[in-house]
Amino acid sequence: MVFYLWKMKYTFSFLLILSLLVTTQSSLFAQEKKPADNLIIFVMDGYRWQELFEGADSAILFNHRFNHTDSAWTVTKYWDSNMQTRRRKLMPFVWSTIANEGQIHGNRNYGSLVNVKNTYWFSYPGRSEIFTGYFDSAVNSNEYPNNPNTNVLEFINQQPTFHNKIDIFSSWDAVARIMNRDRSGLHINIYGEDVKGTSLTPLQQQANLLQHMMPDIFGNGERLDGATYALAKAYLLANHPKILYIDLGDTDDFAHAGEYGDYLDAAHYADAMFKDIWDTIQNDPFYKGKTAMLIFPDHGRGTGPEWTDHGAKTPGSNETYLMALGANIKPKGEIKEQEQIIEAQFAQTIAAMLGFTFTANHPVAPPVAEILKN
Ligand SMILES: [Zn+2]
Repeated sequence: MVFYLWKMKYTFSFLLILSLLVTTQSSLFAQEKKPADNLIIFVMDGYRWQELFEGADSAILFNHRFNHTDSAWTVTKYWDSNMQTRRRKLMPFVWSTIANEGQIHGNRNYGSLVNVKNTYWFSYPGRSEIFTGYFDSAVNSNEYPNNPNTNVLEFINQQPTFHNKIDIFSSWDAVARIMNRDRSGLHINIYGEDVKGTSLTPLQQQANLLQHMMPDIFGNGERLDGATYALAKAYLLANHPKILYIDLGDTDDFAHAGEYGDYLDAAHYADAMFKDIWDTIQNDPFYKGKTAMLIFPDHGRGTGPEWTDHGAKTPGSNETYLMALGANIKPKGEIKEQEQIIEAQFAQTIAAMLGFTFTANHPVAPPVAEILKN
Protein backbone atom coordinates (compact mmCIF):
# COMPACT_ATOMS: atom_id res chain seq x y z
CA MET A 1 0.00 0.00 0.00
CA VAL A 2 2.76 2.38 0.97
CA PHE A 3 4.62 1.48 -2.16
CA TYR A 4 1.45 1.86 -4.19
CA LEU A 5 0.81 5.34 -2.76
CA TRP A 6 4.40 6.31 -3.36
CA LYS A 7 4.14 5.05 -6.90
CA MET A 8 0.89 6.93 -7.43
CA LYS A 9 2.43 10.09 -6.06
CA TYR A 10 5.47 9.61 -8.25
CA THR A 11 3.34 8.95 -11.31
CA PHE A 12 1.15 11.91 -10.51
CA SER A 13 4.14 14.24 -10.13
CA PHE A 14 5.59 12.92 -13.35
CA LEU A 15 2.32 13.52 -15.17
CA LEU A 16 2.00 16.97 -13.64
CA ILE A 17 5.50 17.94 -14.80
CA LEU A 18 4.81 16.48 -18.22
CA SER A 19 1.54 18.35 -18.58
CA LEU A 20 3.19 21.58 -17.42
CA LEU A 21 5.91 21.12 -20.00
CA VAL A 22 3.38 20.44 -22.73
CA THR A 23 1.28 23.44 -21.68
CA THR A 24 4.28 25.77 -21.55
CA GLN A 25 5.55 24.57 -24.90
CA SER A 26 2.20 24.78 -26.61
CA SER A 27 1.49 28.25 -25.20
CA LEU A 28 4.90 29.44 -26.40
CA PHE A 29 4.13 27.89 -29.75
CA ALA A 30 0.66 29.44 -29.77
CA GLN A 31 2.10 32.85 -28.90
CA GLU A 32 4.55 32.58 -31.77
CA LYS A 33 1.81 31.73 -34.28
CA LYS A 34 -1.04 33.73 -32.81
CA PRO A 35 -2.73 36.33 -35.04
CA ALA A 36 -2.46 39.95 -33.92
CA ASP A 37 -5.34 41.21 -31.72
CA ASN A 38 -5.10 44.79 -33.00
CA LEU A 39 -3.86 46.62 -36.07
CA ILE A 40 -2.67 50.15 -36.88
CA ILE A 41 -2.72 51.15 -40.57
CA PHE A 42 -1.08 54.25 -42.04
CA VAL A 43 -1.58 55.29 -45.67
CA MET A 44 0.95 57.84 -46.99
CA ASP A 45 -0.73 59.33 -50.02
CA GLY A 46 1.63 59.40 -53.01
CA TYR A 47 4.85 59.20 -51.02
CA ARG A 48 7.54 57.77 -53.32
CA TRP A 49 9.68 54.69 -52.73
CA GLN A 50 12.63 56.76 -53.92
CA GLU A 51 12.60 58.98 -50.79
CA LEU A 52 11.76 56.06 -48.49
CA PHE A 53 14.75 53.96 -49.59
CA GLU A 54 17.19 56.60 -50.85
CA GLY A 55 16.34 59.70 -48.80
CA ALA A 56 16.10 63.21 -50.25
CA ASP A 57 16.60 63.21 -54.04
CA SER A 58 19.46 65.56 -55.04
CA ALA A 59 17.96 66.18 -58.51
CA ILE A 60 14.89 67.72 -56.83
CA LEU A 61 16.36 69.04 -53.57
CA PHE A 62 18.91 71.27 -55.34
CA ASN A 63 16.48 72.49 -58.01
CA HIS A 64 15.23 76.01 -57.13
CA ARG A 65 12.05 75.38 -59.07
CA PHE A 66 10.87 72.98 -56.35
CA ASN A 67 12.13 74.78 -53.23
CA HIS A 68 10.53 78.14 -52.49
CA THR A 69 10.78 78.13 -48.70
CA ASP A 70 13.98 77.94 -46.62
CA SER A 71 15.90 75.57 -48.91
CA ALA A 72 19.15 75.83 -46.90
CA TRP A 73 17.29 74.59 -43.83
CA THR A 74 15.76 71.74 -45.86
CA VAL A 75 19.25 70.70 -46.98
CA THR A 76 20.57 70.87 -43.40
CA LYS A 77 17.70 68.72 -42.15
CA TYR A 78 17.65 66.02 -44.81
CA TRP A 79 20.79 65.98 -46.95
CA ASP A 80 23.82 63.74 -46.55
CA SER A 81 25.98 62.33 -49.34
CA ASN A 82 25.74 58.87 -47.74
CA MET A 83 22.45 57.25 -48.75
CA GLN A 84 22.05 55.21 -45.55
CA THR A 85 22.57 58.32 -43.40
CA ARG A 86 20.35 60.39 -45.66
CA ARG A 87 17.33 58.11 -45.50
CA ARG A 88 17.73 57.79 -41.72
CA LYS A 89 17.72 61.59 -41.37
CA LEU A 90 14.42 61.68 -43.24
CA MET A 91 12.67 58.70 -41.57
CA PRO A 92 14.54 57.76 -38.37
CA PHE A 93 11.84 55.43 -36.95
CA VAL A 94 11.54 53.49 -40.21
CA TRP A 95 15.32 52.96 -40.46
CA SER A 96 15.76 51.97 -36.83
CA THR A 97 12.72 50.19 -35.39
CA ILE A 98 10.96 48.95 -38.53
CA ALA A 99 14.24 48.00 -40.26
CA ASN A 100 15.34 46.04 -37.18
CA GLU A 101 12.09 44.51 -35.95
CA GLY A 102 9.75 44.55 -38.97
CA GLN A 103 9.82 44.31 -42.76
CA ILE A 104 10.29 46.84 -45.55
CA HIS A 105 9.39 45.68 -49.07
CA GLY A 106 9.82 47.67 -52.26
CA ASN A 107 13.48 48.65 -52.65
CA ARG A 108 13.70 48.30 -56.41
CA ASN A 109 17.51 48.58 -56.27
CA TYR A 110 17.42 44.98 -54.93
CA GLY A 111 14.59 43.77 -57.17
CA SER A 112 12.04 43.88 -54.35
CA LEU A 113 9.03 45.13 -56.30
CA VAL A 114 5.70 46.39 -54.99
CA ASN A 115 3.22 47.71 -57.58
CA VAL A 116 -0.40 48.69 -57.86
CA LYS A 117 -2.44 46.40 -60.09
CA ASN A 118 -4.88 49.11 -61.24
CA THR A 119 -4.03 50.90 -64.48
CA TYR A 120 -4.97 54.41 -63.25
CA TRP A 121 -2.21 55.15 -60.72
CA PHE A 122 -4.06 57.66 -58.56
CA SER A 123 -5.74 57.88 -55.19
CA TYR A 124 -9.32 56.51 -55.19
CA PRO A 125 -8.49 53.51 -57.42
CA GLY A 126 -5.36 52.86 -55.31
CA ARG A 127 -7.18 52.72 -51.98
CA SER A 128 -10.06 50.81 -53.53
CA GLU A 129 -7.65 48.14 -54.80
CA ILE A 130 -5.87 47.97 -51.44
CA PHE A 131 -8.93 47.63 -49.21
CA THR A 132 -11.17 45.55 -51.49
CA GLY A 133 -8.32 43.30 -52.68
CA TYR A 134 -9.57 43.79 -56.20
CA PHE A 135 -9.01 46.04 -59.22
CA ASP A 136 -12.40 47.18 -60.49
CA SER A 137 -11.83 49.06 -63.77
CA ALA A 138 -15.11 50.93 -63.27
CA VAL A 139 -13.60 52.71 -60.23
CA ASN A 140 -11.71 55.27 -62.30
CA SER A 141 -12.11 58.70 -60.69
CA ASN A 142 -11.35 60.50 -57.43
CA GLU A 143 -14.91 61.84 -57.65
CA TYR A 144 -16.32 58.31 -57.90
CA PRO A 145 -19.37 57.91 -55.65
CA ASN A 146 -19.72 55.28 -52.93
CA ASN A 147 -17.56 52.24 -53.68
CA PRO A 148 -19.79 49.31 -54.74
CA ASN A 149 -17.14 46.77 -53.66
CA THR A 150 -16.90 45.37 -50.13
CA ASN A 151 -13.70 46.29 -48.28
CA VAL A 152 -11.77 44.19 -45.78
CA LEU A 153 -12.40 46.52 -42.82
CA GLU A 154 -16.15 46.33 -43.49
CA PHE A 155 -15.80 42.52 -43.50
CA ILE A 156 -13.83 42.51 -40.23
CA ASN A 157 -16.33 44.92 -38.66
CA GLN A 158 -18.94 42.18 -39.12
CA GLN A 159 -16.90 39.78 -36.94
CA PRO A 160 -18.14 39.88 -33.32
CA THR A 161 -14.75 40.62 -31.68
CA PHE A 162 -14.15 43.64 -33.95
CA HIS A 163 -17.66 45.02 -34.31
CA ASN A 164 -17.67 48.83 -33.77
CA LYS A 165 -13.99 48.67 -32.75
CA ILE A 166 -12.59 49.93 -36.06
CA ASP A 167 -11.92 53.66 -36.50
CA ILE A 168 -10.66 55.62 -39.47
CA PHE A 169 -9.26 59.17 -39.46
CA SER A 170 -8.52 60.67 -42.84
CA SER A 171 -7.11 63.97 -44.07
CA TRP A 172 -8.96 63.52 -47.39
CA ASP A 173 -12.77 63.36 -47.42
CA ALA A 174 -12.98 60.89 -50.35
CA VAL A 175 -12.00 58.08 -47.95
CA ALA A 176 -15.63 58.11 -46.70
CA ARG A 177 -16.75 57.18 -50.25
CA ILE A 178 -13.88 54.76 -50.90
CA MET A 179 -14.75 52.80 -47.73
CA ASN A 180 -18.48 53.38 -48.38
CA ARG A 181 -19.32 54.80 -44.96
CA ASP A 182 -23.04 54.87 -45.84
CA ARG A 183 -23.17 51.13 -46.42
CA SER A 184 -20.28 49.73 -44.38
CA GLY A 185 -21.18 51.43 -41.09
CA LEU A 186 -17.46 52.00 -40.44
CA HIS A 187 -16.59 54.94 -38.17
CA ILE A 188 -14.81 57.39 -40.47
CA ASN A 189 -13.74 60.91 -39.48
CA ILE A 190 -12.84 63.18 -42.41
CA TYR A 191 -11.98 66.81 -43.19
CA GLY A 192 -13.98 69.26 -41.08
CA GLU A 193 -15.72 66.69 -38.89
CA ASP A 194 -15.49 66.75 -35.10
CA VAL A 195 -15.37 63.56 -33.07
CA LYS A 196 -18.77 63.37 -31.39
CA GLY A 197 -19.71 62.04 -27.97
CA THR A 198 -20.89 63.11 -24.53
CA SER A 199 -17.76 61.98 -22.68
CA LEU A 200 -14.90 63.30 -24.82
CA THR A 201 -11.56 63.68 -23.04
CA PRO A 202 -9.93 67.16 -22.81
CA LEU A 203 -7.44 66.01 -25.48
CA GLN A 204 -10.28 65.03 -27.83
CA GLN A 205 -12.07 68.33 -27.25
CA GLN A 206 -8.84 70.21 -28.00
CA ALA A 207 -8.20 68.16 -31.18
CA ASN A 208 -11.74 68.97 -32.36
CA LEU A 209 -11.02 72.70 -31.91
CA LEU A 210 -7.51 72.72 -33.38
CA GLN A 211 -8.54 71.27 -36.73
CA HIS A 212 -10.56 74.45 -37.35
CA MET A 213 -7.55 76.68 -36.61
CA MET A 214 -5.32 75.39 -39.40
CA PRO A 215 -5.25 76.81 -42.93
CA ASP A 216 -7.14 74.98 -45.69
CA ILE A 217 -4.10 75.19 -47.90
CA PHE A 218 -5.28 72.35 -50.11
CA GLY A 219 -8.82 73.67 -50.42
CA ASN A 220 -12.11 72.05 -49.56
CA GLY A 221 -12.04 68.43 -48.47
CA GLU A 222 -8.40 68.11 -47.31
CA ARG A 223 -7.11 68.95 -43.86
CA LEU A 224 -3.49 68.96 -42.77
CA ASP A 225 -2.14 65.69 -41.37
CA GLY A 226 -1.29 67.28 -38.00
CA ALA A 227 -5.03 67.84 -37.44
CA THR A 228 -5.95 64.30 -38.53
CA TYR A 229 -3.26 62.82 -36.32
CA ALA A 230 -4.29 64.82 -33.23
CA LEU A 231 -7.87 63.54 -33.56
CA ALA A 232 -6.72 59.95 -34.12
CA LYS A 233 -4.22 59.89 -31.26
CA ALA A 234 -6.69 61.39 -28.79
CA TYR A 235 -9.23 58.80 -29.90
CA LEU A 236 -6.77 55.92 -29.46
CA LEU A 237 -5.96 57.00 -25.90
CA ALA A 238 -9.65 57.41 -25.00
CA ASN A 239 -11.27 54.44 -26.76
CA HIS A 240 -8.67 51.78 -27.61
CA PRO A 241 -9.93 50.82 -31.06
CA LYS A 242 -8.83 47.36 -32.22
CA ILE A 243 -8.13 48.68 -35.70
CA LEU A 244 -7.03 52.29 -36.19
CA TYR A 245 -6.48 53.41 -39.80
CA ILE A 246 -4.91 56.84 -40.25
CA ASP A 247 -4.90 58.19 -43.81
CA LEU A 248 -2.28 60.91 -44.40
CA GLY A 249 -2.44 63.27 -47.38
CA ASP A 250 0.22 65.99 -47.00
CA THR A 251 2.90 64.15 -49.00
CA ASP A 252 0.69 63.99 -52.10
CA ASP A 253 -0.61 67.53 -51.79
CA PHE A 254 2.80 69.15 -51.29
CA ALA A 255 4.19 67.10 -54.19
CA HIS A 256 1.40 68.31 -56.51
CA ALA A 257 2.20 71.84 -55.34
CA GLY A 258 5.85 71.25 -56.31
CA GLU A 259 7.16 72.10 -52.83
CA TYR A 260 9.89 69.57 -52.09
CA GLY A 261 10.85 70.90 -48.65
CA ASP A 262 7.25 70.65 -47.46
CA TYR A 263 6.95 67.16 -49.01
CA LEU A 264 10.05 65.99 -47.12
CA ASP A 265 8.77 67.58 -43.90
CA ALA A 266 5.44 65.75 -44.34
CA ALA A 267 7.28 62.41 -44.65
CA HIS A 268 9.48 63.22 -41.66
CA TYR A 269 6.42 64.10 -39.54
CA ALA A 270 4.64 60.93 -40.68
CA ASP A 271 7.66 58.97 -39.41
CA ALA A 272 7.28 60.80 -36.07
CA MET A 273 3.61 59.75 -35.99
CA PHE A 274 4.58 56.09 -36.54
CA LYS A 275 7.02 56.39 -33.65
CA ASP A 276 4.56 58.15 -31.36
CA ILE A 277 1.86 55.52 -31.95
CA TRP A 278 4.40 52.71 -31.54
CA ASP A 279 5.81 54.12 -28.29
CA THR A 280 2.27 54.61 -26.96
CA ILE A 281 1.44 50.98 -27.75
CA GLN A 282 4.53 49.72 -25.90
CA ASN A 283 3.26 51.40 -22.73
CA ASP A 284 -0.33 50.22 -22.95
CA PRO A 285 -1.23 46.65 -21.88
CA PHE A 286 -4.24 46.70 -24.21
CA TYR A 287 -1.90 46.91 -27.23
CA LYS A 288 1.59 45.85 -26.09
CA GLY A 289 2.82 42.68 -27.81
CA LYS A 290 -0.58 42.13 -29.47
CA THR A 291 -0.63 44.83 -32.11
CA ALA A 292 0.74 45.03 -35.64
CA MET A 293 1.33 48.06 -37.85
CA LEU A 294 1.13 48.34 -41.65
CA ILE A 295 2.31 51.34 -43.70
CA PHE A 296 1.93 51.82 -47.46
CA PRO A 297 1.08 54.42 -50.12
CA ASP A 298 -1.80 54.38 -52.64
CA HIS A 299 0.43 55.01 -55.70
CA GLY A 300 3.89 56.26 -56.63
CA ARG A 301 4.96 59.34 -58.59
CA GLY A 302 7.14 60.24 -61.54
CA THR A 303 10.90 60.83 -61.43
CA GLY A 304 13.07 63.93 -61.97
CA PRO A 305 10.96 66.99 -62.83
CA GLU A 306 7.96 64.62 -63.16
CA TRP A 307 8.05 63.89 -59.41
CA THR A 308 5.10 66.25 -58.87
CA ASP A 309 2.77 64.10 -60.98
CA HIS A 310 1.31 60.63 -61.04
CA GLY A 311 -1.21 58.77 -63.17
CA ALA A 312 -1.19 56.40 -66.14
CA LYS A 313 0.77 58.92 -68.25
CA THR A 314 3.53 59.31 -65.66
CA PRO A 315 6.00 56.39 -65.75
CA GLY A 316 6.88 54.96 -62.34
CA SER A 317 3.74 56.05 -60.54
CA ASN A 318 2.59 52.42 -60.21
CA GLU A 319 5.66 51.68 -58.01
CA THR A 320 5.05 51.46 -54.26
CA TYR A 321 6.21 49.64 -51.06
CA LEU A 322 4.95 47.92 -47.94
CA MET A 323 6.15 48.16 -44.34
CA ALA A 324 5.02 45.89 -41.50
CA LEU A 325 5.90 45.71 -37.81
CA GLY A 326 4.72 44.05 -34.61
CA ALA A 327 2.62 41.07 -33.56
CA ASN A 328 2.67 38.13 -35.97
CA ILE A 329 5.17 39.85 -38.31
CA LYS A 330 8.48 38.12 -39.06
CA PRO A 331 11.47 40.43 -38.37
CA LYS A 332 13.06 40.27 -41.84
CA GLY A 333 14.15 43.90 -42.12
CA GLU A 334 14.70 45.55 -45.50
CA ILE A 335 14.02 42.94 -48.19
CA LYS A 336 17.07 42.59 -50.44
CA GLU A 337 15.87 39.85 -52.78
CA GLN A 338 13.71 39.66 -55.88
CA GLU A 339 9.97 39.53 -55.28
CA GLN A 340 6.76 40.93 -56.71
CA ILE A 341 3.95 42.09 -54.45
CA ILE A 342 0.80 43.85 -55.69
CA GLU A 343 -1.32 46.22 -53.61
CA ALA A 344 -4.46 44.15 -54.23
CA GLN A 345 -2.85 41.59 -51.88
CA PHE A 346 -3.01 43.97 -48.91
CA ALA A 347 -6.71 43.33 -48.14
CA GLN A 348 -6.30 39.60 -47.57
CA THR A 349 -2.99 40.31 -45.78
CA ILE A 350 -4.85 42.54 -43.31
CA ALA A 351 -7.44 39.76 -42.77
CA ALA A 352 -4.75 37.07 -42.36
CA MET A 353 -2.79 39.17 -39.84
CA LEU A 354 -5.89 39.13 -37.62
CA GLY A 355 -6.75 35.48 -38.25
CA PHE A 356 -9.55 35.97 -40.79
CA THR A 357 -10.16 35.02 -44.41
CA PHE A 358 -11.74 37.90 -46.31
CA THR A 359 -14.61 36.93 -48.59
CA ALA A 360 -16.49 39.45 -50.74
CA ASN A 361 -18.83 39.94 -53.68
CA HIS A 362 -15.79 40.07 -55.98
CA PRO A 363 -12.50 38.15 -56.35
CA VAL A 364 -9.88 38.82 -53.63
CA ALA A 365 -6.11 38.58 -54.27
CA PRO A 366 -4.10 36.23 -52.00
CA PRO A 367 -2.25 37.61 -48.94
CA VAL A 368 1.44 38.50 -48.80
CA ALA A 369 1.96 35.28 -46.85
CA GLU A 370 5.71 35.68 -46.29
CA ILE A 371 5.27 38.59 -43.89
CA LEU A 372 3.25 36.52 -41.39
CA LYS A 373 4.41 34.11 -38.71
CA ASN A 374 1.12 32.14 -38.79
ZN1 LIG B 1 -3.03 59.53 -53.89
